[in-house]
Amino acid sequence: MKSEPIPGLKSRSFQLSPDQLDHAGDWDVVVVGGGPAGCAAAVGAASSGSRTLLIERCCALGGMGTLARVPAWCPYSDRKQQIHRGFAGRMLSRSLASTPHIDPNRLDWVPISFEHLKVIYDEEVTNSGAEVRFDTLVVDVVSDEEGLMSGLVVADKAGLHLIRGAVFIDCTGDADLVARCDVDIHMGDDQGGELMPSTMCFTLANCQKTGDDRSLDLINPRGDRPSVIHEIRQDPLFKEIPDDHICVALTGPGCMSFNAGHIYDIDNTQPESVSRGVMQGRRLAQLYRDGLAKYLPEIFGEAVLINTGSLLGVRETRRIIADYELTIKDYLDRRSFEDDICRNAYFIDIHLYSEEVEDDKPWEERVHGRFEKYQPGESHGIPYRSLCPKALKNVLVAGRCIGTDRAVNASVRVMPVCLSTGEAAGVAASMAIASQDIHQINVQQLRTELISRGVYLS
Ligand SMILES: Cc1cc2nc3c(=O)[nH]c(=O)nc-3n(C[C@H](O)[C@H](O)[C@H](O)COP(=O)(O)OP(=O)(O)OC[C@H]3O[C@@H](n4cnc5c(N)ncnc54)[C@H](O)[C@@H]3O)c2cc1C
Repeated sequence: MKSEPIPGLKSRSFQLSPDQLDHAGDWDVVVVGGGPAGCAAAVGAASSGSRTLLIERCCALGGMGTLARVPAWCPYSDRKQQIHRGFAGRMLSRSLASTPHIDPNRLDWVPISFEHLKVIYDEEVTNSGAEVRFDTLVVDVVSDEEGLMSGLVVADKAGLHLIRGAVFIDCTGDADLVARCDVDIHMGDDQGGELMPSTMCFTLANCQKTGDDRSLDLINPRGDRPSVIHEIRQDPLFKEIPDDHICVALTGPGCMSFNAGHIYDIDNTQPESVSRGVMQGRRLAQLYRDGLAKYLPEIFGEAVLINTGSLLGVRETRRIIADYELTIKDYLDRRSFEDDICRNAYFIDIHLYSEEVEDDKPWEERVHGRFEKYQPGESHGIPYRSLCPKALKNVLVAGRCIGTDRAVNASVRVMPVCLSTGEAAGVAASMAIASQDIHQINVQQLRTELISRGVYLS
């Protein structure tokens, strides 16, 4: 595989000449990462008429919402009206249709039926005309000094291949494509690179009395009352449970899915770190099951741990340096921009930093009390420029790693917002195919197109 690099072309890890790789296709738009952002981007691009490929390293679409078993959609509304519409709205309607035990008019914290959601994404993406390539990991990019990307190096069972495209959309959650271009990028707090903790989500089946909200009330913290986990943690048998954090959703009759506890010092861009995290997470899931069975036997006495995420739940890694970095001041000012491509009303959901773990304040208070929350009906705009990496010409970014400061990232990282930024990136990519310059598209035309797709902009 060793070769002389071609002048002007960089493939960072391998220094391969693209000619030495098996050429696996030319596309108008190549989307990497099949999470909510990537699926929405692929649908946005393909439904605009572009030949679109979606590359996913695992064998299902949905990212954290299916593979990591994140149990519910964060709010779709600003508590007055639905603000995530367009493709995001269609996903909510279809998702609700797969959870008949949930009120079909619910907009906020709708539980996820994981296996249904995988199929819904499969259908939405393939029906749009996009092609999906599973089990394929992007390991490198081919780009020049001017920030023009011409191809991706992918690894799969058949070897290493080159996939070419006119425009690329990075929906990896970790900004893998952008990072591979050797451009500046943010990572966590930037100083030491501290990242929000990860969580291994899991599902318990055969839970009793789950039809009645009382079961959730008994587990979730309410007002001054800490969750049952607080009590469980006092028991020496369960001392490994790290903190009181617990969110539960009824993902099916008798099935409760948990986003509980934190795993610290995990960096999703480092495989050794992820390997440690997933094993610790699986161990913790067993402990939660046993602790809940002991302290709430009327619900969990016969419960069975049927699943943990096949991906670790990762909240934070890289954020791109974009044409516009959305800041906490913009968030607190409820700012709108001329180039808004969607809106957001979710609170600044920063999970515990490691130094806060021993703090005495209840978990809920620490997380929810950091920044002022919006009143019903309030939201802010997300500008198109926050999806545009400053140093690259034909690469867009959607989802968790768009250009924001660290605090705002903790709000826009949730799935309805990722669907909304994804759809906008897909439509925008189609508009940039001829010029291969995502900074030069007609943004008002993009907004008009998004509105015609039902997207809510103001
Ligand atoms: C524990 C936890 C709980 C959460 N709770 C909620 C919640 O209740 N509600 C909510 O709405 N949001 C929640 N979130 C946030 C939300 O799930 C994620 O931030 C969101 O899914 C991010 O979407 P994304 O498309 O940007 O990335 P992801 O969902 O992470 O998807 C990225 C996809 O890209 C693929 N990929 C990555 N790198 C490569 C590569 N190099 N080559 C090929 N494929 C690649 C991955 O396999 C993955 O499928 C939670 C997050 C966590 C971690």
